[in-house]
Amino acid sequence: MKEFGREELVVCDKRSNRIPSLSLVGGEPLGEIANTPDYDRIMGRLSKLGAAFLRLVAIAGPVLFGLLTALYVGRPSPYYLATGITVAVAVVACDGWIIARRHWITGGFALATQIVLLIFVGTYMASPLPAPSPLSDPLPQASPPGGMAIYALPTGVNHRTAAFAYRGGSPWDKRDSVSTAVLVRHPQGDLLIDTGLGRSIAEQMKQFPFLFRLGTELVRFQAAADQLDAAGYDRRRLRYILLTHAHWDHISGVPDFPGIPVLVTAAERGFIEEGGWATAQAKSMNAVFQEYAFDGGPYMGFTQSRDLYGDGSIVIVPAPGHTPGSVVVFVTLSGGARYAFVGDLVWQLEGLLEREERPWFEARTLGEDPVLLRQTLLRMSAIATRYPQITIVPSHDPRGYASIPEWSRSATR
Ligand SMILES: [Zn+2]
Ligand SMILES: [Zn+2]
Repeated sequence: MKEFGREELVVCDKRSNRIPSLSLVGGEPLGEIANTPDYDRIMGRLSKLGAAFLRLVAIAGPVLFGLLTALYVGRPSPYYLATGITVAVAVVACDGWIIARRHWITGGFALATQIVLLIFVGTYMASPLPAPSPLSDPLPQASPPGGMAIYALPTGVNHRTAAFAYRGGSPWDKRDSVSTAVLVRHPQGDLLIDTGLGRSIAEQMKQFPFLFRLGTELVRFQAAADQLDAAGYDRRRLRYILLTHAHWDHISGVPDFPGIPVLVTAAERGFIEEGGWATAQAKSMNAVFQEYAFDGGPYMGFTQSRDLYGDGSIVIVPAPGHTPGSVVVFVTLSGGARYAFVGDLVWQLEGLLEREERPWFEARTLGEDPVLLRQTLLRMSAIATRYPQITIVPSHDPRGYASIPEWSRSATR
């Protein structure tokens, strides 16, 4: 025991593991505190808890890392990145502890989850589909009437990454995933291809699963209805809303156009009834759905088609896979410009040009039909190769809209 004036420091007798005495200022002894069996038990429990925590980190850490990866590619937030790096470092440290202590059973489980993680990360790697047989048909005839025009109405954007959109995309390549409605003006009646985000998107978002909201950073612009109203657009000219498919981000603005018929295929109508949270809005919005059939013949490699106004200016073809009743809308203007609105067949152009599917996790979450999607993707890929004069417009890729004038900025509307 070493004394410092009247104070006395505690010095543990290591041999007996006892604390011989303790006194405070004033020198009054508190008595001998023995390192009792209780103390040993507490220390033993703490040690077991610590070991259990390290085991948990080693086994569950890779699962958490996988989840953070999925969140980060959908919403490249620095918080997900920092947490992911911390988890990865912790897992490696725990692996070292397991090896040093030779906890081989725990190590086996940890190895298993880490292998699953590697397989999961591998589903984001490039895996291009084989090139389809080339098309040889000439470009289909069209007789678009004078006075046709097309406008883009951007309604919002999600900040995502290329890795989220297609296999082989980089997680460091940030991409804007836009939500844009397209107005096609036609003498027989204007058409809105999808509606983008509507006036009530904030309320609609509240119904989405928590995990989806965690992985989504949505920035809203003016709704399509407000953009049209602001420019004094005569709504009586709007004949139809034509959906590429019924997912929330395409149908959100439908309630802003009460009474306007919403054109859908029978397959998509069935999907709306059974499609879960992604079509819950479509199901509950009392839209005037109007089904149409593909009564036309083959069109650019597709076996069926629907020529909406009979002049070849707006031709719809079935493109199932992303949803059962997804379609591609081909638009030909009187000036000769041609567009293919492919909806969510791909989220970014690379998906089509490099024949890369959506990553497994994203496709799985959407409940896509991978076989049908692959067929449609290859068919559109062949079209993109054969007819480079057609502008391919994936719904969420801003590059697709580069040649389409924006409604709110156009002086000639
Ligand atoms: Zn979709
Ligand atoms: Zn979409």
